[in-house]
Amino acid sequence: MRYEQAARPGLSDTLLDWYDVHAREMPWRVPPGERKAGTLPDPYRVWLSEVMLQQTTVVTVRDYFQRFTGRWPTVGDLAAAEDSEVMGEWAGLGYYARARNLLKCARAVVADHGGAFPADYDALVKLPGIGPYTAAAVSSIAFDLPHAVLDGNVERVMARLHNIHTPLPDAKPELMREAKALTPDRRPGDYAQAVMDLGATVCTPRSPACGICPWREPCEARRLGTAPDLPRKQPKKAKPVRHGIIFVGQRRDGAWLLETRPDKGLLGGMLGWPGSDWIDVSEPLPETPPPCPADWQPVDAEIRHTFTHFHLLLRVRTAQIDSGTQCDRGAFVAPENFRPSDLPTVMRKAFDLIR
Ligand code: SF4
Repeated sequence: MRYEQAARPGLSDTLLDWYDVHAREMPWRVPPGERKAGTLPDPYRVWLSEVMLQQTTVVTVRDYFQRFTGRWPTVGDLAAAEDSEVMGEWAGLGYYARARNLLKCARAVVADHGGAFPADYDALVKLPGIGPYTAAAVSSIAFDLPHAVLDGNVERVMARLHNIHTPLPDAKPELMREAKALTPDRRPGDYAQAVMDLGATVCTPRSPACGICPWREPCEARRLGTAPDLPRKQPKKAKPVRHGIIFVGQRRDGAWLLETRPDKGLLGGMLGWPGSDWIDVSEPLPETPPPCPADWQPVDAEIRHTFTHFHLLLRVRTAQIDSGTQCDRGAFVAPENFRPSDLPTVMRKAFDLIR
């Protein structure tokens, strides 16, 4: 049995009361007390945090967010930044297409919207890298527009509140309908953050703390004892394994041989070591010519890294490269200009391996 439609405004009020006391502190968030006093969040900070939080935890995002907003305090500052600087700051956050779209979006906001994010879902969702989720999150959190936000936390809360057993991802439309039905016209931005906080801190995946939950009375899954089983998910397919080789070379004066990867494709626009394509066969791995003549030696360990759709096993070759050697790929970067933190994680693993 579903909770009656007429009772739903009560549900959002109950949750907002809980949020007023239990809201998590976030560097991009305006706390509920200040918000009620009229302070609105900076849409740039809301957008930046939402892009960073896709596929990444709050704990990891905090430092990146502080560094980004310290270095580029406004969307105009970010739009004017060098691509390589932004990609370097993003290194380690993963899902690098997000960083490329971040820049495209900042530049579109400056070029097409006078440097201010539009307070309109339809305009937001047309910006590069902003999909329905981010448009809804910015609309509600930054502009207090009643758009339902459905992230993993909210999916879990909705599935349990309404005891929905359809497996994800097929359940998404049904969960979205329920999320929309509950989204209030009063304080929709705080409400969106409240449901996310409830999922992150109380209605947690393995052991929901139903005893302290503001929605324990109407919650169907709590009543039926099904909460730990929800939401159901389609079994995941095993990820394929891909293989490749990379060449980590250093000139005798200490300069590293690096290349900027092509804009399109995995790790696009990021700094990396020259190497082979990543392919599905392991033995024999096709011969890959090194980027320049040197005594390339295999390293007695492989890099293991997992991307969204596959696991990667990388063999590493390393060499000291003579001064004056001509290279077919990459460019030498002086040690004083090289920050290992500018490397994406998989490339950083290779650097850590040979140090
Ligand atoms: Fe989640 Fe339990 Fe609250 Fe239901 S009562 S929403 S299962 S924490």
